Amino acid sequence: MDKNTLNKFKNTEIDYVHFITEGDENVCDICDKLWENNPYSIDEAQKISKNLHKNCRCKWIACDKDDTLRSSI
Ligand SMILES: [Zn+2]
Repeated sequence: MDKNTLNKFKNTEIDYVHFITEGDENVCDICDKLWENNPYSIDEAQKISKNLHKNCRCKWIACDKDDTLRSSI
């Protein structure tokens, strides 16, 4: 989990982020639940990031309030 990504979003117009897992059978239950509850505000995402397990492969990507992904950023 790259914490710098969230800081970078915070300094732009990005207010919401979408949690992505690798989508394979190794995704843990915690991350799977987080994925189901998309999207998150940046503040929520930063809190969640502090509590994620080590070596988590999941990522945050920019999205809109309605969970539309912003692939260009
Ligand atoms: Zn994970």
